Amino acid sequence: MEALSDRPVHEASLNAANTKLSRLETALGKADRPDFGLCANGNNPFPPSRILLMPEATLCILCAEKS
Ligand SMILES: [Zn+2]
Repeated sequence: MEALSDRPVHEASLNAANTKLSRLETALGKADRPDFGLCANGNNPFPPSRILLMPEATLCILCAEKS
């Protein structure tokens, strides 16, 4: 096992991968809900790119910008 603290570059890419993974897991955990991918304010569907970038979002881009 390599010591990650000696490898700052590896550590940074590992952190980025972990962030991506946790976002995907969040999206996956919400995928079986009936409101998945829909805006909480008007039921507009999100574009898939928004779900992947911000799976924790409950508003579409238009509503998020207004609030
Ligand atoms: Zn909306």
